[in-house]
Amino acid sequence: MAQLIDGKRISQEIKDELKVKVAELKAQGKTGALAVIQVGEDPASSVYVRNKKNACAYIGIESLSYELPKETTQQELLDLIEKLNADSHVRGILVQLPVPAHIDENAIIRAIRPDKDVDGFHPQSVGAMTIGQKGFLPCTPAGIIQLLKRSGIEIAGKHCVVIGRSNIVGKPMALLLLHENGTVTIAHSKTRNLKELCKEADILVVAMGKPRFIGADYVKEGAVVIDVGIHRNENNKLCGDVKFEEVEPLASAITPVPGGVGPMTIAMLMNNCVESIAENEG
Ligand code: NAP
Repeated sequence: MAQLIDGKRISQEIKDELKVKVAELKAQGKTGALAVIQVGEDPASSVYVRNKKNACAYIGIESLSYELPKETTQQELLDLIEKLNADSHVRGILVQLPVPAHIDENAIIRAIRPDKDVDGFHPQSVGAMTIGQKGFLPCTPAGIIQLLKRSGIEIAGKHCVVIGRSNIVGKPMALLLLHENGTVTIAHSKTRNLKELCKEADILVVAMGKPRFIGADYVKEGAVVIDVGIHRNENNKLCGDVKFEEVEPLASAITPVPGGVGPMTIAMLMNNCVESIAENEG
């Protein structure tokens, strides 16, 4: 039976560590807020925003909420970001994506000051990560590294196959595994022989956004399998990109969906906010 990589437990452990750190920072007079901006009323986004605000409350940092109508213009959003950039009490700015189609997402990401870019999406943050310099790391892949480390799984020297090359998951995941001295292969929709490639993986990270695509025939015996996918099946139940019940008996360790990667994303967002507060010179 595979070791179950428990994202719920590990994310709670991280949030509890952060709570202690926030109290210590407060005692040194260091405080700050996370500004959360949502444009429109996409129900999935509203759930994510609420969870982020709850996590702030749990660890003891202030969150400022900006709920803007879906008609908000790009300039109005840029003006708000500019105001928050200039506010020294605001230590993190998060624009919940996706934004409505009339707003250029990249322009919004670029407008956030890199030292407040707690999502780690600004090109400067991405560049710093690429060359191993200081900057905020994107939360989902950083969370996966924490899941592996805190579950006692060695990355160095392992063959890591990442399925997916998105800017928020696949690409940064591959880089972070490389920084941990993994030997990394990235697969995508044009990859040939996906099955054979996956069967060579010691650590298989699946971020393809295809419900229950990866079965036992893609997995080497004893591999570690990380499932990033989140979907609702026909019965409205959550499932991942991996056929859990088929892969689990083969794997040495595996993340469940829900309760695997999902909770780590918010924990790492909180980690970035606390880092930002700690480093604020006022
Ligand atoms: P995305 O932008 O849609 O990227 C999917 C990637 O998978 C693309 O690079 C695509 O290749 C590749 N792909 C698709 N079909 C493939 C196939 N048949 N064979 C090989 N590669 C294939 O998705 P994403 O934003 O990275 O997210 C991936 C999944 O993770 C989604 O289910 C999303 O909901 C979930 N997610 C979860 C969290 C969390 O907190 N747990 C956070 C973010 C995302 P091409 O580039 O060639 O098109």
